[in-house]
Amino acid sequence: MPGGVIEVRQSERLSLLERIWLPGLLVGFWVIARRFFRSLGGGAGRLRAKAPLDPRQRPAHVRGMPVLVSDDGQTPRCVGCELCAQICPPGCIRVGVVDAAPGPGEAGQARAVEGFEIDMARCLYCGLCEEVCPADALAMSPLVEIAAFDRADLVFDLEALLVPASLLSARLEAREAGGAAAISGRETPQEEEVS
Ligand code: SF4
Ligand code: SF4
Repeated sequence: MPGGVIEVRQSERLSLLERIWLPGLLVGFWVIARRFFRSLGGGAGRLRAKAPLDPRQRPAHVRGMPVLVSDDGQTPRCVGCELCAQICPPGCIRVGVVDAAPGPGEAGQARAVEGFEIDMARCLYCGLCEEVCPADALAMSPLVEIAAFDRADLVFDLEALLVPASLLSARLEAREAGGAAAISGRETPQEEEVS
């Protein structure tokens, strides 16, 4: 019932069956053993993919490391509005902007992005930065294997974050389509290509 209160009835004392944990354990073993032997006997049709997934098989809705989109491979689309830095829950984005001369036909003061940092040791992969970006300048890439011995090595700067839009096409297209398409079957950029 919408808005209603659901009453959960719970017996005060555990029944004998609930107190004996052995049957539950045996059922668990039985399920695992059945799966194991079925996979040996060629009945592994349900095991669809090896883990970890090949980066090329990762669907576009995978939220990996956030990166900066560049149309020419050198200049970020980012306009330095800092919305991503403001919305980021752990505050791991830092945007450096400087005043710039307005372009032809533009009024007022323009901004140019001088620096950009994401501390991947603190990133939650929530995707809020991507959602809030008004310039489609930030995208969650399929890169998920990120490790370092030193935390400082997990702070990625503007140069390291720049990724050509062509390598993020599956993700960008999915976003354009409202994120509804699961896009399995479409190729996502290879991990080597975005690292
Ligand atoms: S994915 Fe979330 S936590 Fe990571 S940088 Fe973006 S907003 Fe911050
Ligand atoms: S929200 Fe987008 S345009 Fe604004 S600073 Fe972040 S990446 Fe740049």
